[in-house]
Amino acid sequence: MCGIVGYVGFRKSPELLIEGLRRLEYRGYDSAGIAVQNGNGGEINIRKKAGRVDELANLVQNDPVDGTIGIGHTRWATHGETTDVNSHPHIGGNGEVVIVHNGVIENYASLRTKLQEQGFVFHTTTDTEVVAHLIAHHLAEQIKLGGDPASVDTCIAAIEISLKRLKGTYGIVALFRDVPDLVVAARLGSPLVIGVGDREHYVASDASPLVGYVDEVVYLSDHELATLTADEIHLKHLETGQLSPSIQTLDQVSNDVELGDYEHYMLKEIYEQPQTIENAMRGRLNADEATAVFGGLNLDAPQLRRIDRVVLTACGTSWHAGLVGEYMLEEFARLPTEVEYASELRYRNPPLSDRTMIFAITQSGETADTLAAMRECKRKGLPTLAICNVVGSTIAREADGGIYLHAGSEIGVASTKAFTSQVTVLAQLALFMGRMRHLSYPAGSRIIEHLKAMPEKAEQTLKCDELVHDIAKKYHGFDNFLYMGRLYNFPVALEGALKLKEISYIHAEGYPAAEMKHGPIALVDEQTPSVFIVPRGSIYPKVMSNLEEVKARKGPIIAIACEGDEKIADIADDVIYVPDVEEYLQPIVTSIPLQLLSYHIACMRGCNVDRPRNLAKSVTVE
Ligand code: GLU
Repeated sequence: MCGIVGYVGFRKSPELLIEGLRRLEYRGYDSAGIAVQNGNGGEINIRKKAGRVDELANLVQNDPVDGTIGIGHTRWATHGETTDVNSHPHIGGNGEVVIVHNGVIENYASLRTKLQEQGFVFHTTTDTEVVAHLIAHHLAEQIKLGGDPASVDTCIAAIEISLKRLKGTYGIVALFRDVPDLVVAARLGSPLVIGVGDREHYVASDASPLVGYVDEVVYLSDHELATLTADEIHLKHLETGQLSPSIQTLDQVSNDVELGDYEHYMLKEIYEQPQTIENAMRGRLNADEATAVFGGLNLDAPQLRRIDRVVLTACGTSWHAGLVGEYMLEEFARLPTEVEYASELRYRNPPLSDRTMIFAITQSGETADTLAAMRECKRKGLPTLAICNVVGSTIAREADGGIYLHAGSEIGVASTKAFTSQVTVLAQLALFMGRMRHLSYPAGSRIIEHLKAMPEKAEQTLKCDELVHDIAKKYHGFDNFLYMGRLYNFPVALEGALKLKEISYIHAEGYPAAEMKHGPIALVDEQTPSVFIVPRGSIYPKVMSNLEEVKARKGPIIAIACEGDEKIADIADDVIYVPDVEEYLQPIVTSIPLQLLSYHIACMRGCNVDRPRNLAKSVTVE
């Protein structure tokens, strides 16, 4: 959600900024813009446009700008329509300052009124323009007090005072007209990372625009402000004072984000799953002790044994993975587990004892609600851990410990490989917590054997792609779908429905199959296909009865079933077979055909699979 990129150095910044914005496109956005400053004269030129980065690139080609300092932004509108004028960058005052912003300014309305009273004229309906004018206002105040407009200190003082007046969240990057070798970045709640180069510095929402340009990065934390010139970085904590930057190596490889032979990132990521499932287990299965080992939990065995309750908190697909995790943790570790929407947990006040362990589950590690829920729990003194994909992300850094997915960059907005990796990690967590409690050695060994087989099982599952494509042809014109499953496949039903909604804009609902009779069965007719996830398992006959009930009402049925299940072919209209695996690992194999089904349907409906409308990859606003 929203992408920021900034540069100060010796390269031509317009090209660099646009290339950086392209690499951030996957985060989701609706408009794009750049501001470029010429180091000699200080003039700041802005080009911005609602729409794609390509359109911005055309605009810049037809109306070029020149300079070696600049900032760029892809906007995901929260305040004000997606228009050219509302796109970032925004000008403060008469152009003394230009900013880009990610986040939401909650007190923008009252600040706007005060600034209007002082004579500031607003050209946009964004909350961001308020920040731009506020900085310009405090800059003027500093100058009145004797500050030199061409001095870095004056600019920093103005920005610091302004930031203190903001309520909400921000990642802000600013240029100052009268100090033409300066980029200032500050964060509260929205991610920013600085790229450290030789006679050049970068700043971006995540590391992807930096890959290939720098080897070292500094992650900004909340309340930190960075002053960047071509030669220097100064970091300051706005509450505690000066800081020295903690430089880390950028360990992301650039081919990770390349599409290769695939038509879409989503398809590439679906096909990566055998490998990413393997990666989620690498070095973590200890056959000798029949358990899993995690390097980064940062809790010792006595602390872990004290835990008597687990809360998994997440949003979207990660929340669905959490539901699978709940069943596993309760089954194998006998630990009472709850799965909470992070957006609810952050404002609820549930009883949480110091024996409760919180796991935040997030692909990006930047999800605003998940971060806030985790912080709220941390404030209450609970051990907070994270299951997250992006190394060095805010949640990864702020958690007391955690487990990385090691799934590589997930670019497609609809999460696929992160889900199966999360399930793989949660299975290992259940094994680990179980072996500290009631789970026997032979039971632990069996889980390890089952887990080790999963990359191969995922590979076999992917063979259904052609068949799923044909099924999609048959069904892509329908406007409503139901998804049903039970036990471990209930979260898969939710996830299947979410995938279809996200990328094909078809209305879909996921339900525990038996709940159907309590409402959704009223929707069943010849125009409403039901996707039944009905692999073999403890309640196979029960799910089959639910399926028959739909059939009796002439609802078309697509079944996800285990290889060798011939009976189902007589009842369902279409069957997609998946390998027969243990029930708790079925979500890995049953979710793959559902990912493919929504992918093919979305393609056939002409939807933008990797960048669905209104959605963002990394949801950094509340
Ligand atoms: N709230 C700002 C706007 O609507 C920034 C949105 C973003 O993070 O892209 O313009």
